Amino acid sequence: MRTDVVVIGGGIMGSALAYWLTALDPSAVVTVIERDPSYARASSALSAASIRQQFSTPVNIRVSSESIAFLRNAGDWLSVGADRPDIALTERGYLYLTGEGGVASMRAANAVQLATGAEVSLLDPAALLGRFPWLDVAGIALGSLGTSGEGWFDGYALLTALARKARSQGATYLRGEVTGIDVESHRVRHLSLADGTRLDCGVLVNAAGPWAGRIAALAGIELPVEARRRTVFVIGCKAELPGFPLLIDRSGFWIRPEGRNYIGALAPPAEADDPDEPPLEPELDQWESQLWPALAARVPAFEAAKLERAWAGYYEYNTFDQNGILGLHPSLDNFVFMNGFSGHGIQQAPVIGRGIAELILTGRYATLDLNDLGIGRLIDGRPLREENVIG
Ligand SMILES: Cc1cc2nc3c(=O)[nH]c(=O)nc-3n(C[C@H](O)[C@H](O)[C@H](O)COP(=O)(O)OP(=O)(O)OC[C@H]3O[C@@H](n4cnc5c(N)ncnc54)[C@H](O)[C@@H]3O)c2cc1C
Repeated sequence: MRTDVVVIGGGIMGSALAYWLTALDPSAVVTVIERDPSYARASSALSAASIRQQFSTPVNIRVSSESIAFLRNAGDWLSVGADRPDIALTERGYLYLTGEGGVASMRAANAVQLATGAEVSLLDPAALLGRFPWLDVAGIALGSLGTSGEGWFDGYALLTALARKARSQGATYLRGEVTGIDVESHRVRHLSLADGTRLDCGVLVNAAGPWAGRIAALAGIELPVEARRRTVFVIGCKAELPGFPLLIDRSGFWIRPEGRNYIGALAPPAEADDPDEPPLEPELDQWESQLWPALAARVPAFEAAKLERAWAGYYEYNTFDQNGILGLHPSLDNFVFMNGFSGHGIQQAPVIGRGIAELILTGRYATLDLNDLGIGRLIDGRPLREENVIG
């Protein structure tokens, strides 16, 4: 088979790229190889699918600002004929809470956010209580609330809408598992699939999410991306808690409304994190021993909360600096990466997909400069310091 661009992985990243490549160049020949079209273990199908502007680095804030603009109009961008997808975007804001020790870095991040155009307010404990009377502000010195462009959406609906639109524009989705990458004279020449199929490719893209490190290794490249398990708890709480945002507590949990329930999770300390790709079993014991007590301390109404169910998914965890890793690998002329988003990939996908499509089609980022996320920083040993990673 012959194709111009082969994308390994048909999750949100691969599908956003296929969508943009075929939108920007209707003559592009794009093949997406996906081993599991049911996406049973893909991050994109197991995500909390929330979006925030509150990063601490300008590049991440700019990506989010353009992403929310896309999400607000996703129905228009991704309509196929009369079928207009609904990604159920709810704009409600993230609320970060910190103690005395975190005030300086919250203020520093706020200065970068405001300078980059994000709408974020800092609230002292009295202001927090005025706005969210159901909070217990013990130990809280400052809160940071996004007042525009933050919230959550149906990530699976976005994934299927991108893939369907990409197909309608000519992209081909091929079921198969990539098991080999042949490299010759600094170029990827062929791919092999588990069923014995061999494909030529002009450009190869690694969009394999949590398995991106394994794909890179097939071409002899070390990529610091691992599949780190995260358990999401679905929590019932009958109390009225008006205006509940996506709350990120200083103790390390996050929680947000989801339909009539809430969903929440803990960010494990780095030293206690799982190894690469453990079984996707939810870690149920976290609920009683850690999450519930921390939650009830911050929002006393959750003392009467009930665990409804839980699921686990993999973060595509970049062990180097927990940010996206983008672009052409310097040692290979035609192998492009879009990996390592570490818990903030689904919100970035519409803009990262556009940027990587521009890079492939024109050799540079045209609409938004994504060079700060370039793969070169790994080789130079220059981590991108993003304070607001949700572990
Ligand atoms: C619990 C949880 C909560 C999250 N919450 C948020 C959030 O609130 N906001 C946010 O922005 N992000 C969040 N994320 C992160 C976000 O979901 C991911 O960043 C994003 O979905 C990554 O997309 P992807 O396309 O790179 O990976 P995936 O969706 O995993 O897609 C990769 C695809 O590659 C395929 N593949 C792998 N290897 C091969 C192979 N050898 N051959 C063929 N196909 C292959 C896989 O089958 C898979 O379908 C969360 C993630 C999790 C797990």
